[in-house]
Order: sequence, then structure tokens, then C-alpha cells
Amino acid sequence: MAFAVIVAACSSSTPTPSEPSAAPPSAPVSPGSSLGSAGPSAGASSGSSASASVEPSAEPSGSASPSEPPRPHKTPHPTATPGDGTPTPPSSDVSSPNGTPLPTCRYADLPVRGDPNTDWATMILDTIYRLPSTFVPQHLVSTSDAGMQSGFEVIPTVIDDLRAMHEASAAAGDGQEIAVRWAYRSYGEQAGAFAHWVAVSGRAAALTHSARPGHSEHQLGTAIDFRSASSLEPPWDYADWALTPPGQWMEQNAWKYGFVLSYPKGETAETCYAYEPWHYRYVGRTLAKQIHDSGDPPRVYLWQHYGPGA
Ligand SMILES: [Zn+2]
Repeated sequence: MAFAVIVAACSSSTPTPSEPSAAPPSAPVSPGSSLGSAGPSAGASSGSSASASVEPSAEPSGSASPSEPPRPHKTPHPTATPGDGTPTPPSSDVSSPNGTPLPTCRYADLPVRGDPNTDWATMILDTIYRLPSTFVPQHLVSTSDAGMQSGFEVIPTVIDDLRAMHEASAAAGDGQEIAVRWAYRSYGEQAGAFAHWVAVSGRAAALTHSARPGHSEHQLGTAIDFRSASSLEPPWDYADWALTPPGQWMEQNAWKYGFVLSYPKGETAETCYAYEPWHYRYVGRTLAKQIHDSGDPPRVYLWQHYGPGA
């Protein structure tokens, strides 16, 4: 059953968040079993529904549109035809007034544009742009500040919406409550994780599901890997975590709380990573709604609106 949905651009192969050395798991194991068994002790120890009953007022408001129909998928963006790997002429992508052509998936190490401490929401961080190896968010706080698991960290700005989202998922009942499986990961931890996957599966395969150091959204302190609160099983051990009640809830509601799914299903040609139903990046409610309404993966939207040509 432990279908080897390999860990992702998150590449959470490092054993625990409390081991910043990010040494690859000591025991040689398969990707699936490695991820499945290497649960962060903090996450495992903190249970699931710690704060489900706290502040039930945290319903999404304002920007959330409960009656909104399912997002129109992939309408506005003509580039990167799924399956083709060929460059798309810039002229084909002019749907945005600030349009920047979405580059096809390639690997480079351009320094990110902007300051990751202040531009974390709109910052393009993909296989092309990378954070400095020395970058650590100025402030990191425990996800326990949001009433969730301890042992994981995010930047403080994430906390209020994370708390609201968690409480809403718990209030939804029917086993839809979410929990944190991973959050901030340092450059060093990501380096260890990527090296591990290269050793396990080879570089070409590793690149499809693990970010090279500096390229992970987890280093921003705004990305979170979620799991089901009802089970400690890592989300990547499911055939498709999005089919679980918490996974479905997140797919439908996360954007209302400022979180977007970085690597949606069937979008690998544009996201450059395999599908990761558990990996969400916080961008704030306003931008999350815009990305949601666009029908495009965040990478596409960010390149269009915040790319070098924007
Ligand atoms: Zn992740």
C-alpha cells in the first residue's frame, strides 16, 4: 500500500525537523519506506487534534467566495503544452499585461529576484531561481503558535491564517482535519535531502521530485506539507492524498486562507515537479485568490505577473 509517491520538491527525506544537519537517512531504504517511516518525532508526538476546538470563529471571510464554482482549470495560459518539452515562443504568452513567458522546465541557479524576507509571496522559486545558501528567514516560529504540531517552523505572517485554516478543517468534521507534516527546511537540510535522492534514484529521477538546495519553497518558511490529522501516515505514502477527506478539504479551501498548491496534478510540464497534493505555499489571501481564480499553477501565475519581464 505504501505506494512510492516520492517526496517532492519538498523532498522530506531528512528524518526529522530537529536534525538540521540534514544528513540523509542512515539506513539505505527505498523512497517510499524512507519517507513513510521517518516521521518527525515532533510531529508524531504532538498528536492530531490538539486545538481543534479553539476559536471556532475562524471562518474565511472577505475574499473567500463560498459559492464560487470550481476553478477554471488552465484557461488563460497557453504556454507549456502538457507533454511537450519544447520552448514556447514568448509571443505566445501575452495573456497578462505584465506577461512574462513561462520558461519551460530547465535547471539553472539564477539568484531570486527580490528580498525573500519581504517578497516571499510573489517570489519565483523554481528550478531556475534559487535562494542564497545563507538565507534563513529573519523570524521563524513554531506551528504550535497556530495551535498545530510543534517541531515545525514557519514565518510569523503565516500563523493567523494557518490557525484559521486548521480550525476550519477541524470544524468541518468527517475526518477532514489537517495536520502539519513538514514546514521550514534549511538550505543544509535540503542539500542533504537532494543528495539522498540522487544516491537512491539517480540525479535525473531526483530532479523530478526533489528540489536542489536553494530551490525549495520550504526554505522560505512559507511552505507546509500537510497530512491527515487522523493518521500519522505521511501524505506521500497515499496513492493520492488529495482523495482523503483532509486532502479534499485542502484542495477546495486552502486558497481561502492564503495557501496555494504548488505542484498540482497533471501540471508537471509547468511546475517542473511531480504532483504533490500535500505541499502548499502560503502567499496571503489576496494573491491566493488571484492564483486560484486564474486556474493556473502558482508558478505560471508568478512568472506572468512577477517574472523578469513584468
Ligand atoms: Zn513540501
